[in-house]
Amino acid sequence: MEKIPVFETASEVDQLNGHLMDAIQQVLRSGQFIMGENVRHFEKEAAAYLGVKHAIAVNSGTDALVIALRAAGIGAGDEVITTPFTFFATAEAIHQVGASPVFVDIEEDTYAIDASNIEAAITPRTKAVLPVHLYGHSVAMDELQTIADRYGLKIIEDVAQAFGGEFKHRKLGTIGDAGCFSFFPTKNLGAYGDGGLIATNHDEIAGAAAMLRAHGSRKKYCNEQFGYNSRLDEIQAAILRVKLPYIEEWNQQRRTAAHTYHQLLAGIQGIVLPVEKEHIKHVYHQYTIRVLQGKRDELKEYLAQEGIGTMVYYPRPLHQLPVFGDLQISMPHSEQASHEVLSLPIWPFITREQQSKIAHRIHSFFSK
Ligand SMILES: *Cc1c(COP(=O)(O)O)cnc(C)c1O
Repeated sequence: MEKIPVFETASEVDQLNGHLMDAIQQVLRSGQFIMGENVRHFEKEAAAYLGVKHAIAVNSGTDALVIALRAAGIGAGDEVITTPFTFFATAEAIHQVGASPVFVDIEEDTYAIDASNIEAAITPRTKAVLPVHLYGHSVAMDELQTIADRYGLKIIEDVAQAFGGEFKHRKLGTIGDAGCFSFFPTKNLGAYGDGGLIATNHDEIAGAAAMLRAHGSRKKYCNEQFGYNSRLDEIQAAILRVKLPYIEEWNQQRRTAAHTYHQLLAGIQGIVLPVEKEHIKHVYHQYTIRVLQGKRDELKEYLAQEGIGTMVYYPRPLHQLPVFGDLQISMPHSEQASHEVLSLPIWPFITREQQSKIAHRIHSFFSK
């Protein structure tokens, strides 16, 4: 029985063949492992691809969030509005800069923060909104921008799952004041280790971010602030430089795979397929369905027995995590989503045969 993992890298490594090895070997021979020419070039190439003035490479997506928040002037006593239906790092970063996350529930169909609920959560301490483009699908950025403008809030985008995604032909991560990307290996632009990037059109944010990632110094041994040791290393930068030219094609292959799933899974009672909205280019970092009537875990288990990997992103909304104590708030859409979502295998090279097998098993599950 052929197993189908939820994610794999073997096919991309096959496609990139010698290029990856050459790039890695060049770094090894150069003796330059930290902040060398690969990082410099990658920052330029990423900025050009995204259509943004500055790109600052850092050690992870989490660090990108922490450093961007601080560079945007968010700190002790401030409140940052965000979604509880995301990876923990989103809220963790807010806490790490001394601010407090304020959760606003999501839209049912896109899993994105519901912009129409943001206004009610704004207080005099609110300084920023941190939207997350979950699964590769954009937040409603127009509505968000309108509210942010009205209340003078910064927008820091969490683009960890949406490299190359678009809202009205603008790349995600370049619409707000700063965009924070992750190159964690499973992300749609993944390194083979940790990595992250901050994109911004603001000179001051870029300058502050570059300073903070280097121990708070613009000039060596002249530290102005307490910062971080947060650098993308040369090997990861070299790998990302090999992969970046393929991201449009690979995102397109993900979209094609998603459309194949749409067809193969259409008409099954008991699941809800992902939506696509006008003006939004979804990059399908994940293909996430909803499984209704409390059957999610049973379907996951059934597929696992058939050798098919799936994931639950995320089994608990953040406001229910022990770290927040007992918040006594209810976020019904996030809570329901955490019980119903199931992400199916997707990567650019998944084959139609693999997808047919997965769809076939899901059909059999529901006709049992
Ligand atoms: C992966 C992820 C992060 C954190 O990125 P790391 O590179 O793992 O630190 C933050 N937010 C979201 C939504 C993510 O998916």
